[in-house]
Amino acid sequence: MTAEEALNQLKEGNSRYVKGDIKHPHTDIQRRDELTGGQHPFAVILSCADSRVVPELLFDQGLGDLFVIRVAGNVAKDKVIGSIEYAIKFLNSKLIVVMGHENCGAVSASLSNADPGGHIGAIIEKIKPAVYMSKRMPGDHLTNAIKVNAQLVSEELKDSKPILQDAVRSSGVKIVSAYYNLGRGEVEFMD
Ligand SMILES: [Zn+2]
Repeated sequence: MTAEEALNQLKEGNSRYVKGDIKHPHTDIQRRDELTGGQHPFAVILSCADSRVVPELLFDQGLGDLFVIRVAGNVAKDKVIGSIEYAIKFLNSKLIVVMGHENCGAVSASLSNADPGGHIGAIIEKIKPAVYMSKRMPGDHLTNAIKVNAQLVSEELKDSKPILQDAVRSSGVKIVSAYYNLGRGEVEFMD
C-alpha cells in the first residue's frame, strides 16, 4: 500500500467513526490466525496516551492494521523514534501520522509554569518549543500549541537520520501531522 492509499484508508475509517457507522474490521478469529506469523501494518500512528484517543477505534481499524505508539503529548524521543524506524524498515509501513488532540493535558501542563515533579517534566520540556512558537498566533493558545507540537514532531521525524530521513527521500514514506477533535471524533490532517 502506498502512503497515499494508506492515508485514504485512515480518512475513510475516521469518516465511518465520525458518523457512527463503524465496521470494526479485522477483529475476528480468522484475522487473528492470519497474523500469527507476521504483521504488515499499513500506517504508523504516534499519538497521545490519553484514554480518549484510541487510534484503532477512531480510524475504525483492526488487528495488524496500525502500528501505534502512544506517549503523553505524542513527543518523540529515542525509544519512540526507534519504534517508528522498526515499522518503516522491517514492516514496510509507508505512512507515519503524528496526531495531537483537543484538550491535551500534556500540552496544557506545558502552557502553565507549574512543576509537576517526577518524570513528567521531561515530557513538558519537550513540548515547550511548540508553546513558544504558537504564543502569538491568533486563536486559542492551547489548540495552537497542540497543533504546532504535532507539526514539530512530524518535522523532527522527517529530519531523523538515517532511517526516517532516507525513507522519506527515497522509499515513498510520508510523514504527516494531524489533530483529533474529541467531541466530533474527527481527525484533521494538517499537511
Ligand atoms: Zn494528550
